[in-house]
Amino acid sequence: MSADCLFCKIAAKKIAGKMVYEDAEIFAFEDINPQAPTHILLCPRKHFRSLDEAQAEDQGVMGKLLLVAAQIARDRKLTEGYRAVFNSGAGAGQTVFHLHLHLLGGRKFHWPPG
Ligand code: AMP
Ligand code: ZN
Repeated sequence: MSADCLFCKIAAKKIAGKMVYEDAEIFAFEDINPQAPTHILLCPRKHFRSLDEAQAEDQGVMGKLLLVAAQIARDRKLTEGYRAVFNSGAGAGQTVFHLHLHLLGGRKFHWPPG
């Protein structure tokens, strides 16, 4: 855990979050400022700042983030499609520097993203 990290504090239940999934390796919670009817953030418990810092040893947990996102999308019946996004670095719009996967669904998405 990183002492001054918002998402580490949510994982530790020091800050309230609306959890939708938890296990020993990852946790997922509702985004506080949703950009779609479904907007969930999935994080590894291990603190790392961004995708750029993920190592070979993190392969399993990174795969789990994606597979759990797909399961949540099925559970929520996002049958029209959904988007799974890592913003990596400030230039890509990252504002919280604990790696997280955005799962967005329930509306139409455009390409390319803004
Ligand atoms: P990013 O801009 O990719 O780093 O995404 C950070 C996300 O965290 C944004 O979508 C925010 O709305 C969300 N966020 C910030 N603070 C909280 C919080 N306390 N609980 C839940 N989501 C949050
Ligand atoms: Zn953290």
